[in-house]
Formats: sequence, structure tokens, C-alpha cells
Amino acid sequence: MAREVRGDPVNVEFPDRIRHYIDGQFVDSADGSTFDVLDPVTNETYVQASAGKKADVDLAVAAARRAFTDGPWPALLPRERSRVLHRIADIVESRNAQLAELESFDSGLPISQALGQARRAAENFRFFADLVVAQADDAYKVPGHQVNYVNRKPIGVAGLITPWNTPFMLESWKLGPALATGNTVVLKPAEFTPLSASLWAGIFEEAGLPRGVFNLVNGIGEEAGDALVKHPDVPLISFTGESRTGEIIFANAAPHLKGLSMELGGKSPAVVFADADLDAAIDATIFGVFSLNGERCTAGSRILVQRPVYDEFVERYAAQAKRVVVGDPKDPATEVGALVHPEHHAKVMSYIEIGKTEARLVAGGGRPAGLPDGNYVAPTVFADVKPDARIFQEEIFGPVVAITPFDTEREALELANNTKYGLAAYVWTNDLKRAHTFAQSIQAGMVWLNSNNVRDLRTPFGGVKASGLGHEGGYRSIDFYTDQQAVHITL
Ligand code: NAD
Repeated sequence: MAREVRGDPVNVEFPDRIRHYIDGQFVDSADGSTFDVLDPVTNETYVQASAGKKADVDLAVAAARRAFTDGPWPALLPRERSRVLHRIADIVESRNAQLAELESFDSGLPISQALGQARRAAENFRFFADLVVAQADDAYKVPGHQVNYVNRKPIGVAGLITPWNTPFMLESWKLGPALATGNTVVLKPAEFTPLSASLWAGIFEEAGLPRGVFNLVNGIGEEAGDALVKHPDVPLISFTGESRTGEIIFANAAPHLKGLSMELGGKSPAVVFADADLDAAIDATIFGVFSLNGERCTAGSRILVQRPVYDEFVERYAAQAKRVVVGDPKDPATEVGALVHPEHHAKVMSYIEIGKTEARLVAGGGRPAGLPDGNYVAPTVFADVKPDARIFQEEIFGPVVAITPFDTEREALELANNTKYGLAAYVWTNDLKRAHTFAQSIQAGMVWLNSNNVRDLRTPFGGVKASGLGHEGGYRSIDFYTDQQAVHITL
């Protein structure tokens, strides 16, 4: 159904209802129940989505199981699966503009940042399509005695549970490797943002993915997600979301001894030494926490700055934060849009109030002037934040940053490692030796030196401590989604 978005016509087909997709059919929940999906700018319900329960998950898993045991997909040659994945990538990329409008509307992301998500999603399919074709499995020889080699096999029905930040792209990060390796899937997208996920079914049908290989159940995490995690016919779960949810899923999966990949929360430090290129460091750390509305797992939400440049950094940073344009996500000039949901908005605003009691507010501090409704937050900067402050320790997941001074490299390292998280870190210095030794010591799954967050799909992606379990990326994703069987031959 085409519609106007806040007064302007858009060229996008909006579904009149968001349904599950099971065994090649769009279906409602067995008990007919639905939940409201809100427009983050008006907070009005704009569509109803089917609320999946255990019965719906059972049907989806049964369909995926049939497609795995009786269907062609797992047994296709990698080259044949790869062709389908490349077609998926081409279709996804060709729909960039449509996807960006849907994603921006549903999640509140600025349209300028939603554009390009389809390209990244397409790349996830292309990368794994190529990787499975190039895959060489190990062989080990004991000359004259034995040859041993490895068979890789798809595991079965993969349960994919995803969050609401850049939802379409993050779904593709799981769908690409799960499908490339020959598994069948049940996707449970985040309940705040089910709109773009509803595109997958049409894309996969058009690309020729066999029926039942992809299934989607919408719904609340504690119902649909929970049923997927506890389903005995789902041997692996790839989850991205909050660390607390990861703990619950870990416990619920334990009785079934499932394979788990967990990409969880973060409170990543950006460490700025006095010898750094300050212009570049300020630009990058502004982008690092305010792009994607600050709703980014790898956001550099704690900035540690060496004392000789601290005052200058704080002053220039605050001035630049005040220039960040907050507004309607569909306006091309907008740099920070509306946060995804009123509940999340309330959480971010409550952290801002906590921050005011803990540190010195130097920019933002609440709702921006002129935007009385919707989930808007002014880019907010706190300085002189102590390491025991809640805004230093806890993930806020919005456009809020904590700046803390340090004197020595040792103190910087202690501060950087002083949270339960360990997802990403950013280091700014012109001292090459220090950059590399600091990277080595920092407790983070990914470190960027004098760089913004730029991904290379071959490298490991994942966190340490409370930020995750296991790594995906490159062959690590292939490892997660396949069983490796050793075959021994005595000569
Ligand atoms: P969330 O944990 O609330 O929800 C994530 C998904 O899990 C949703 O689909 C939800 O419905 C489902 N879920 C919730 N409870 C469940 C349960 N008991 N059983 C099964 N499924 C359940 O996270 P969110 O608020 O949607 O996303 C934001 C979080 O995700 C942040 O903490 C962010 O850092 C993290 N994140 C991490 C990465 C990463 O790669 N490390 C990437 C993006 C987001």
C-alpha cells in the first residue's frame, strides 16, 4: 500500500499488515494476535504486525526442518548456492532507495545514513557466496600411513535473532553465511522494527531460494524469540542484542547444548593521546557516537583524552556536537533522527538526567528546541566523567557521550578496560609503537587505530567480556554455521 509519510508522498509499498512468512506463505499468527508498530516521529501506530507464539515458531521450524532434510538446498554445490546468493545481492542493491525509505521510516535513522545499508547488506551476501566457492577444506597426510581430511556439513535449522538498529543490514550479516553454508533458517527480527525484514521473502522468492529455506516469525522476544531458542530442532542460535538478553538466551539454550554466537552490547572507548591529529580525532569521535543516532553497538561512547589537550578537545567537541543537525529522519540534512521507540527514548533521557548529577554537561542535555514530539534527543556531551559514574559504565545506546581525562598511557589503559564490556576501541596517536602496543593490551574484540569504524568482512567481528561470545567474519562464520567432520583413511 503506497502512502504519504508525514505529509510527503513516498514511492514505497508499505504492507497493510506485517505477517510471518512460513513455508513460502505469508501467514498470520495461529491465534490471530498482533502487536503495534510505532512511527518514531509521531509515536502513532502505523501498522500491526503478527505476534508469533510457540505454535507459529513450531510451524516455521518444521518447514525449515523439512527444507533441510527433504529439500535441495543443503545438498546443492556451493557454486549453485552461490548463484542464488549473488542474485539476492543484486536484488537487494537495486532496492537501496526503497529500503532506505522503509528503514528510515521504521527506525528513525536519518535517510542519508539509511541509504547505503542495502549496499552493505548485498555485500554480506556476495562475500559469503564467494567464500563458500573458494573454500578449501583441510587435509592432513602421514606419508605412507594415513590421509585424513575434513568434511564440512551444514548443521540444520539456524535460529537468527536480531536487534532493531540497522535491522536489515544486521539480518543480512546472519542470513548470508547461514544460507551460503546450506542451512535453512528461521529469522526473528526485532519487534520495534519489523518493516524492512518483511522485504526478505519477496527478494528470496525472486532470487530462486527454494521454499521453506527461509522462514520469518515476527513477535516479542520473550515469546517468539524464546520459543526459537528453546526449540529442540534448532541446533544453533545466532543472536545480536543486549548483553542481558544474551545471558537469558545462554541459559535457555544450555539444556539443548546449542551452538551459540552472541554479538552483544558495548561501551567502547575512543582514546585520544596528546600527539594525535586532533582535527581528525574530533571529526571521527563525533561521527563515532552520533551517527546512526548513537544506536550503534560499536559506538565510541566513552572518549578518554590526554590532559595536555583535554580542555581544547572538550571545548571544540562540545561546539561541534551543538552543530549536529537533529530533525525529521526523512530530511536529507538531518544527521541525528528520532530514536527508535518511546521506551528507548525514555531510557536515553533518564541516563541524561543521571549524567547531570554525575558530571559536567557541555552540550545537549535533553529534547532539542523546536521538536516537542517524537523521540528526539539533542546530541549530549558530558565532560569530567568519573570511571564509577553510571554514564561511564552502562550502555546508553543513544547520542550521549562521556569524556574523561587521563595523564599516562597506563591510566588510559586502565580506564579503557574499566567496564564489563569489550566490543570495540579506537586509538588516536601519532606514536606508531604506542598505537600497536596499546591495541594489544586493550580488552576489545576490534580496535581501530587513527580510523573510523570501517569493516573488512574477512576480519573477526565480535566482542570479549560481556560484549559477546564467539567471533563471526570470514571463515569464522563458516565455522559457526557448519559441522566439521574428520575422515581418517589408513593406507
Ligand atoms: P534486545 O536484546 O532487547 O533484543 C534483541 C533481539 O532479541 C530482539 O529480536 C528481541 O525480540 C529478542 N529477544 C529479547 N528477549 C529475548 C528472549 N528472552 N529470548 C529470545 N529472544 C529475545 O536488543 P535490542 O534492544 O533490540 O538491540 C540493542 C542491543 O543490541 C544493544 O545492546 C547493542 O549494543 C546490541 N548490538 C550488538 C551488536 C554487536 O554486533 N555486538 C550489533 C548491534 C546491536
